[in-house]
Amino acid sequence: MNTEPRSVQQLINGEFTESNTTEWIDITNPATQEVIAKVPQSTPEEIEQAIKTATEAFQSWRVTPISKRARVFLKYQQLIRENMDELAALLTEEQGKTLADARGDVFRGLEVVEHASGIGNLQQGGYIENVASSVDMYTVQQPIGVCAGITPFNFPAMIPLWMFPMAIATGNTFILKPSEQNPIVTMRLVELALEAGIPKGVLNVVHGGKDTVDALCDHPDIKAISFVGSTAVGKHVYDRAGQAGKRVQCMMGAKNHAVIMPDANKEQSLNQLAGAAFGAAGQRCMALSVVVLVGESKQWVDEIVEKSAQLVVSAGKDDKDLGPLISKQAKARVERLIQAGIDEGATIKLDGRGCQVEGYEEGNFVGPTILDNVTTDMSCYTEEIFGPVLCIMYADTLEEAIKIINTNPNGNGTAIFTQSGAHAHKFQQDIDVGQVGINLPIPVPLPMFSFTGSRASKLGDLGPYGKQAVQFYTQTKTVISRWFDEDASEGVNTTISMK
Ligand code: NAD
Repeated sequence: MNTEPRSVQQLINGEFTESNTTEWIDITNPATQEVIAKVPQSTPEEIEQAIKTATEAFQSWRVTPISKRARVFLKYQQLIRENMDELAALLTEEQGKTLADARGDVFRGLEVVEHASGIGNLQQGGYIENVASSVDMYTVQQPIGVCAGITPFNFPAMIPLWMFPMAIATGNTFILKPSEQNPIVTMRLVELALEAGIPKGVLNVVHGGKDTVDALCDHPDIKAISFVGSTAVGKHVYDRAGQAGKRVQCMMGAKNHAVIMPDANKEQSLNQLAGAAFGAAGQRCMALSVVVLVGESKQWVDEIVEKSAQLVVSAGKDDKDLGPLISKQAKARVERLIQAGIDEGATIKLDGRGCQVEGYEEGNFVGPTILDNVTTDMSCYTEEIFGPVLCIMYADTLEEAIKIINTNPNGNGTAIFTQSGAHAHKFQQDIDVGQVGINLPIPVPLPMFSFTGSRASKLGDLGPYGKQAVQFYTQTKTVISRWFDEDASEGVNTTISMK
């Protein structure tokens, strides 16, 4: 019997091919440690070939009629819907999140595909007639060429779908570099994209870690890079690709605070807090990992602990409340930060370390964990834990809570729970964070808008998907035209026209 794990293929010029590399990375099921596949570190020649292919395919794709491009995504959204259960199961097996949450991961990407199918209404320029006599001025939004996307492990369906549908719908060609920790569901989505009619060379996939990312950042034929991942890597990508003259958008790490005001609806707010702190085992960039209890809501700690303790940890396929962390290293890191919090003076109110799930003794499980009396100098606060750990802090006033949040370097997401319109308005106005929820824990924008971020959570001005992505993946060209009447000669004019 052949026990060798199957290898993940690359996509170059419309062909799914095996890499010639000697370097392979294991993909493990985080609930069992079973090696389910291996992914190659694509060779420099393979990366070069993918870029060459994408450069050639751009010549015909850029002039493919916009309705034809749109129709590919109309078909693609249908195929994703038809294959939703299979996609979710693949995602859960390699990533660990529950099946219900995996469906959500695919669904939020699917919404971007639906939006891309309306590209004809999005990629429009402007037109003004008679800016001078018989002179018209207009702009067109032209595709920029080969674009690349580098994606993280935590949303292996949604985040690739944030990128290549909008890039390709606007007439570009694309090189995708999925997370090397869980590229299988991403590859299935890529297969469906081809089935939907994306022509050969328009979408390509190469694999690997830093070497592949650096090669994409440096290559002169790649015009733009979209990155989603950790802050340190995002900064590296922004600097390196920026040095090479590219457009770059980097969506990065987070430390998302919830503010609970004493006038909040207690039951709803605490339910939402527990869901957003521990869902996906805290491995969402929008997870609420800190709660600031204001005034009388300071007395609600026991109820937060009680609700959190009831959440059930399981293998993702058993579909309870939260699954395992992505890797043994991630589990060790989360446990180290919990211990550091205790050593630095936090009170442990709920300890998820040593969490065991029957039948999955090898899984990377950490149960919901709550650290109380956390202060801004503790490493459990200064670092993004990216695990099921909620830090509790206190403030006497809303102003004080806002100050805590605005002083933290990250500005990805936040939420306030209050019944007061005045509090909500002040929070919305004064908070320096990209995504703001009001009585809503994970305020991820739908594709009619764009994802954003503030301060250390984002580099580059334009965000992924939505209208901003149309701007990011296109170049504005301005055309000024004049059509002479046959006998209307004005002679030579050497001045700037004032007409
Ligand atoms: P990561 O930064 O480790 O990896 C992201 C990508 O970068 C992967 O494709 C990886 O192969 C590559 N990479 C890793 N190390 C590299 C290096 N040294 N040089 C070049 N490339 C490298 O991130 P992750 O652990 O996969 O994802 C979790 C992080 O992503 C968290 O910080 C989370 O907050 C963030 N995230 C942010 C958003 C957002 O929209 N702001 C969304 C999802 C995740």
